[in-house]
Amino acid sequence: ETFTTMRLSRPILKGVASMGFVKPTAIQSRTIPIALQGTDICGSAVTGSGKTAAFVIPILERLLFRPKNVVTTRVLILVPTRELGAQCHSVAMNLAKFTDIQLCLCVGGLPSRIQEAELRKRPDIVIATPGRLIDHIHNSQSFNLDSIEILIMDEADRMLEDGFAAELNEIIKNTPKTRQTMLFSATMTDNVDDLIKLSLNRPVRLFI
Ligand code: AMP
Repeated sequence: ETFTTMRLSRPILKGVASMGFVKPTAIQSRTIPIALQGTDICGSAVTGSGKTAAFVIPILERLLFRPKNVVTTRVLILVPTRELGAQCHSVAMNLAKFTDIQLCLCVGGLPSRIQEAELRKRPDIVIATPGRLIDHIHNSQSFNLDSIEILIMDEADRMLEDGFAAELNEIIKNTPKTRQTMLFSATMTDNVDDLIKLSLNRPVRLFI
């Protein structure tokens, strides 16, 4: 199997090729077709499996496939740490290179004022740590979650271990119920299971 058989648009295939990806990894083969249908997904996958591209590729395709008529933020990707945020941002920027999709990285350690200005422009995709995102929602009117169509929780177990449960609950509560949600976790603990029950609607479970 190759990426070419996955019904992806040309600009996305060019982005994939530019990264030197030829064959999809196991998690990519399983996740991409299901995610493209808009189905909720819960996957156990670790770093190194190619999971970032597994959720970024269908996101980009869905953003292209349903063109926007207003400038809104449509995708929120939550990650536990600023390092993972930076990695995810870099993969997504490369894959989106041949599109006009706008991305913003919103994590601790970067100046809040600059992020605030970026968030006000309503980038298509926001990649954030839960703490920093909540700060922006509470302390400034620069951002809200009303227009989110796709919510990703990456490394959910780590976000819970790092004490982000309250922030996650608030974010989930404030995104539209009609959203598509994908949750990835290296381990499936009771806390992760509670988060799955709270946030996912009839998810397809992928264990790779
Ligand atoms: P991740 O698990 O998302 O952290 O990705 C691990 C590494 O695998 C990253 O350096 C990716 O660039 C790389 N990668 C992801 N998908 C593929 C693929 N289909 N073919 C080759 N390398 C890939």
